[in-house]
Amino acid sequence: MSEKSCLFPTYARFPITFVKGEGSRLWDDRGNEYLDMMSGLAVTNLGHAPESVKQKVKEQLDQLWHVSNLFTIPNQEKLASLLTDISCADAVFFCNSGAEANEAAIKLARRYKQKILDQDKYEIITFKQSFHGRTLATLTATGQEKVQDGFLPLPEGFVYAEYNNSADVEKLINEKTCAVMLEMVQGEGGVMPADPTFVKEVSELCKKHDLLLIVDEIQTGMGRTGKWFAYEHYGIEPDIISVAKGLGSGLPIGAMLGKEKLAEAFTPGNHATTFGGNPVITAASIATIEEMTNLKLPQRALELGDWMITQFSERLKNNSIVKEVRGKGLMIGIECTHPVADLIKAVHQEGVLVVGAGPNVIRLLPNLLVQKEDLQKAVDVICTILEEHKSAWKETVQ
Ligand SMILES: *Cc1c(COP(=O)(O)O)cnc(C)c1O
Repeated sequence: MSEKSCLFPTYARFPITFVKGEGSRLWDDRGNEYLDMMSGLAVTNLGHAPESVKQKVKEQLDQLWHVSNLFTIPNQEKLASLLTDISCADAVFFCNSGAEANEAAIKLARRYKQKILDQDKYEIITFKQSFHGRTLATLTATGQEKVQDGFLPLPEGFVYAEYNNSADVEKLINEKTCAVMLEMVQGEGGVMPADPTFVKEVSELCKKHDLLLIVDEIQTGMGRTGKWFAYEHYGIEPDIISVAKGLGSGLPIGAMLGKEKLAEAFTPGNHATTFGGNPVITAASIATIEEMTNLKLPQRALELGDWMITQFSERLKNNSIVKEVRGKGLMIGIECTHPVADLIKAVHQEGVLVVGAGPNVIRLLPNLLVQKEDLQKAVDVICTILEEHKSAWKETVQ
């Protein structure tokens, strides 16, 4: 496009414009075909334009698009019931994005402590290198200065512990602490899985000090890591779970899930949204969960993810510019010794879409219906390009 863009320049966009998507494939405006290994950042978990979801959305579009949340919305009731079936939660609040789901989680945790337990507690312990969203509260929950830069003053009540360090969490607990907020695999922070001992210890600290455990499953949830929710890998039960990205197969929806005891902390008028849980969006989410259940996609993500991590680990073990291959299910990171921005562009030029996670990590988030030969192609392209970059990078001392 030659004309000046009228958008705020909030993104450093890749120089590709997509016009069509189907399954694991995308096509740009010049007719080039791409294999999508990022799924719009863990959003299109059933691939692009999945037929099952499209049908349900079309049916709903013919019936009713929008009514106020002052009325019962049957799709919302049904979706909430499905979400409580697949998680340890008992109640759901629908919103439109991940940041809003976390915002609701923060508000619920504070309100539960202050109004139900009558305790003057508000502080939430989050983690360095975490990512929780871009609203003022959620960017403050995010333990990365670059996300907070220029937005002072930040709201009060967030402190940051070292990830995978429960002693650091314990040190930060005081009479004001109300909750711990945790990603089971830090996504934006570099595809960093939580250590099982650390998670157990944090869960025990929460019980001991009567803190709510909020798990941010916005990127890890909806089957991505090989379970419906990544907390299931760790044998713990959070009090609050936030979900978004993969929940609507590409239509915007977020949800905050909570335990029964928390339900009474949100009564009529305490929290609300105009669009949250709209009939059309919830139809998409119901179809998404039904399809994932019928095809056992969390299990599929686990098997394909294990296979892919093994492929990368074996083929890259002698590559001196690769530090580590890690991940859970189909959420995979390859950490390199150097910044990977140019390398990612080279992978795109070979027709495979991947994305970074922090400066040095290549991140893969394929859809959960992806075919094995497509994963094989992505592995081949990425390993070849990493091999080619080896000699170029050796000359630059980092
Ligand atoms: C993407 C993401 C968010 C923010 O979600 P938005 O829909 O962009 O507001 C929050 N937490 C995690 C872990 C995420 O990956």
